[in-house]
Amino acid sequence: MLEGFVPFPEEFQKKYKEKGYWLGKTLGEEFDEAVAKFGDRVALTCNGEYVTYRELGERATRLALHFIERGLRPYDRMIMQLPNELEFAYVYFAAVKIGVIPIMALPVHRDAEIGFFAQFTKAKAHVIPSTFKDFSHQVMSRDIRKKTSTLELTFVSGQKVDGNFISISALLADKIETRTPAESLKKYRPDPMEPGVFQLSGGTTGVPKIIPRTHNDYALMCKRAGEIVRITKDSVMGIPIPVNHNFALCSPGLQGVIYCGGKVVLIPTPRTDVVFEAVQKERITIMPTPPALLIRWMEAPELTKFDLSSLEAVLAGGARLNAEAAKKITPILGCDYHQNLGMSEGMLFWTERGDSEELLLNTQGAPMFEDDELRVVDEREKEVPYGESGELLVRGPTTIRGYYNSPEYNRKAFTADGFYRTGDVIKMYKGRYISVEGRIKDTINRGGEKISAEEVENHILAHAKVENCAYVAMPDRILGEKGCAFVLTKGGQGLTLDELCRFLKEERNIAVIKLPERLELVDAFPMTEVGKIDKKALRQLISEKVEKEGR
Ligand code: AMP
Repeated sequence: MLEGFVPFPEEFQKKYKEKGYWLGKTLGEEFDEAVAKFGDRVALTCNGEYVTYRELGERATRLALHFIERGLRPYDRMIMQLPNELEFAYVYFAAVKIGVIPIMALPVHRDAEIGFFAQFTKAKAHVIPSTFKDFSHQVMSRDIRKKTSTLELTFVSGQKVDGNFISISALLADKIETRTPAESLKKYRPDPMEPGVFQLSGGTTGVPKIIPRTHNDYALMCKRAGEIVRITKDSVMGIPIPVNHNFALCSPGLQGVIYCGGKVVLIPTPRTDVVFEAVQKERITIMPTPPALLIRWMEAPELTKFDLSSLEAVLAGGARLNAEAAKKITPILGCDYHQNLGMSEGMLFWTERGDSEELLLNTQGAPMFEDDELRVVDEREKEVPYGESGELLVRGPTTIRGYYNSPEYNRKAFTADGFYRTGDVIKMYKGRYISVEGRIKDTINRGGEKISAEEVENHILAHAKVENCAYVAMPDRILGEKGCAFVLTKGGQGLTLDELCRFLKEERNIAVIKLPERLELVDAFPMTEVGKIDKKALRQLISEKVEKEGR
């Protein structure tokens, strides 16, 4: 077993297998079955290039053979930073075929994040684009490799590949299967009970947490989600958000659509005109989207210029969709919608098409499986009466039992009997439906992208002028929330937002999405009774200020 992985207890393994949730197949075997079944149908498209299932299968197999030749083996870790492009799918399916565990980083992650993933997981490979916006991932990879002895291989998509790095295009052009038969990959079959993919949690601590998803549970999740949102071989899913995210990859996402024989359209940017153009051209039927994007689309002046009539449903998840926005979806976009509470740790909730308007507008759905167990508890972990607010605790056939290599944190994040403490405050609603009321975890949900307050605070505290700070969510009409930094400077020195952001970007090398979008200098912080900064008071303060300014 992979060291640092917390397996499901035996009695639960037995139960989930007996009940038919876990099929004992690897993510690669599920993929191979889809390739065999849907051969000449189009599986993927991006930037005008079309790839059939057969071609996707051949390319993934070829890359898997090359990965083995380069020394990668089952359970080795591989940091994935590719954007929405065809190579993402080739590399992802190649990795899971041979049990190499992709770590689902984002293209926007920088030295601070990638350096941490590399060291913490002892990753062996880094997969990056040759050019992406104005940043050189190749320079970053070189720097991180100097500091991380285990990181031996860098694979690069695109054309300009530095010496010593491996070009993915060159690997794809080299028909290795004529020298090493594809059959030889069977030797490298991973155990379906082991982690197949590492997802990332925005987390609530100073460093991101790694979420190990097993082959069994990750296959189950996307297939069941696919049934709920009605994915068939005729579905065309547009993915306008980073495909690395759990929502876009597996809820049901790229993987769920591929397992069903549908077509995936990888959209390189969420820009409204690009997305609408893709919907019109590819006749997209379904799209995952955080509410922030959905609102932008519904308000876009370009809306009437495109034919969006192929859209059957949008999947709204990642952040709370308010009822006012939900009401507009069908009149404006002419399609249905599913609300989704999702978490990379596992459990997914969905509203279904055909649910009453009351459920569709006011809830984030019901769990997917009869054996998804929910508890709603107060601060002392006592269950609250049905319908009252409390923290949601979950356990089930797709929910992890622990973060990778984090025994101490796991004691806090999970109950003794294995329930994951979501940090979300919910109310139960009509049977097993839930409505998200807020959260107790210290994160900022920026348009669906989760940011750990503590992680950013640690970086801000490293600034020479900063005495103390608090990073909190402030309301934003489109994104839902943005980050606001409250800072007490040493000796009351001046500090500007620009100065702080430059420091965080250039000296601390953190991802741009984590940068504060507002700075409030303070003389003192409001404190709680136990002597901590009172963040609730700060959130209230900034929220009132933003509201006043808006007026
Ligand atoms: P992630 O693992 O990045 O998908 O983040 C999971 C967290 O996002 C959940 O625990 C919630 O806090 C939040 N979240 C996801 N979907 C929703 C939703 N529909 N409404 C409110 N919060 C959500």
